[in-house]
Amino acid sequence: MVVNLDPQLMGILVCPCAAHAELRTGTAADPHADVLTCTECGRSFPVTDGIPVLLLDEALPGTGPQSDDPASRGDHRGLG
Ligand SMILES: [Zn+2]
Repeated sequence: MVVNLDPQLMGILVCPCAAHAELRTGTAADPHADVLTCTECGRSFPVTDGIPVLLLDEALPGTGPQSDDPASRGDHRGLG
């Protein structure tokens, strides 16, 4: 399933973490997951019956900002 929230709602929703960063639907690994993922801390929040549960207690632990993609860094200096 794809999270289908009102764009206006998405505009005002922020992560309850210290950064209060924007949220994106799905996760980096699964863009169609029924969760909202913080762009800063990377926590994923479940969406239940179309209602995002923005509670740190309910969140899946994050792995850091999604923009930090190790695949695009091209760090191959150790090889050879
Ligand atoms: Zn966050």
